[in-house]
Amino acid sequence: MDLALSKEDRAFAEEMREFFTTEIPADIRARVKRGEEMSKEDVVQTQQILNKHGLAVPHWPVEWGGKDWTAVQRHLWAEEMVLNYVPPPVVFNTAMVGPVIATFGNHEQKQRFLPPTANCDIWWSQGFSEPNAGSDLASLKTTAVRDGDNYIVNGQKTWTTLGQYGDWIFNLVRTDPTAQQQRGISFLLIDMRSPGVTVRPIQLIDGGREVNEVFFEDVVVPADQLIGEENKGWTCAKFLLGNERTSNAAIGMIKKRIARVKRLAGPLLDDPLFRARVTRLEVETAALEMSVLRVLAREHTLPPGMPDPVSSVLKLRGSELQQDAAELLVDALGPQALAYREDYGVPDGFAEPTEGAVDALPTYFNWRKASIYAGSNEVQRQIIAKAILKF
Ligand SMILES: Cc1cc2nc3c(=O)[nH]c(=O)nc-3n(C[C@H](O)[C@H](O)[C@H](O)COP(=O)(O)OP(=O)(O)OC[C@H]3O[C@@H](n4cnc5c(N)ncnc54)[C@H](O)[C@@H]3O)c2cc1C
Repeated sequence: MDLALSKEDRAFAEEMREFFTTEIPADIRARVKRGEEMSKEDVVQTQQILNKHGLAVPHWPVEWGGKDWTAVQRHLWAEEMVLNYVPPPVVFNTAMVGPVIATFGNHEQKQRFLPPTANCDIWWSQGFSEPNAGSDLASLKTTAVRDGDNYIVNGQKTWTTLGQYGDWIFNLVRTDPTAQQQRGISFLLIDMRSPGVTVRPIQLIDGGREVNEVFFEDVVVPADQLIGEENKGWTCAKFLLGNERTSNAAIGMIKKRIARVKRLAGPLLDDPLFRARVTRLEVETAALEMSVLRVLAREHTLPPGMPDPVSSVLKLRGSELQQDAAELLVDALGPQALAYREDYGVPDGFAEPTEGAVDALPTYFNWRKASIYAGSNEVQRQIIAKAILKF
């Protein structure tokens, strides 16, 4: 198998690099480079620039802003974006709800929601998990009861990433409490400014507050915001989670972290054991990248809306390698890794952190999440065992 990029693909990557480094404001890219938390404004502004040039949602159908690109081109687009410190488009919009609406929504819903979703005029949040429904998602209890032209929604979601920025939330709700678990679930879009919606932040181990609880109390939701058929939302959910897991491989991010390790490791790189760790990580990342390309390339051979179980392999390995890279950086920095992010303040008695060290430890802690979200790695192993290995 020839692993080298073709001349055309190299030219395409160069074109992307040129665009990202000239069109995306330098101050935003500098903040990403320093490891600072992105503001909502930075992310929205970036996505709107990308969208204006047709580069926000290349994997969507062409009539809704997608590009007729090859799998390799889509991969290079994502990779160059990360390597050049561009905040990626909001994943809830572009990789999650957008493709669901494009696949399962009716024409009015596509017209109403897809353009503002691509342009980030709406910031979407994901309302799947509940306090007692994470791995066992189908046991969710948030109800939506039909009342004329509306649904009345009651319940609670949790771990809602960036819910503090959310304008709308896509939810799995129970519409038939008498049906078997998966059968009574529907996929419902809810305006988060509706009366009865409350968002409460959760403090995390890295000091940040990027996840939230979302409460619904007698929230009135127009029935035309139901995507697909009532009680068939599980099909949308499986399709969405398949897409989410493919994007969770995050190859560009792993490469960027390895590059940072090499930049900051100094004489440690001459240590054969440390060097072997770096090399092993690089080789494993290259292997995962090939697998991502294989999955993307066969995407069009599956029936529309059919999730690819191999996405579980990508999520599993991607999250492990992201965590390995974060750990390697902490090991490389030694005591310097104890530096804190500027926005959390440097504790008394600590030296000012060197650039590239500020977010090493918070990032290490933060990325423990990667083996939990989008379905924990234990759950991915079960999917692989059942759907691929046929145990
Ligand atoms: C940072 C972060 C962001 C998130 N963002 C969102 C979001 O935006 N929207 C959203 O809806 N959800 C989000 N989630 C929720 C995430 O999808 C769930 O946390 C995840 O599915 C696990 O569910 P749980 O937390 O309830 O853990 P549990 O399901 O209670 O699992 C606890 C432990 O038991 C293991 N386990 C459970 N069942 C099995 C089994 N059958 N076999 C083997 N082991 C098992 C799990 O692997 C885990 O180690 C986020 C989570 C995190 C950590």
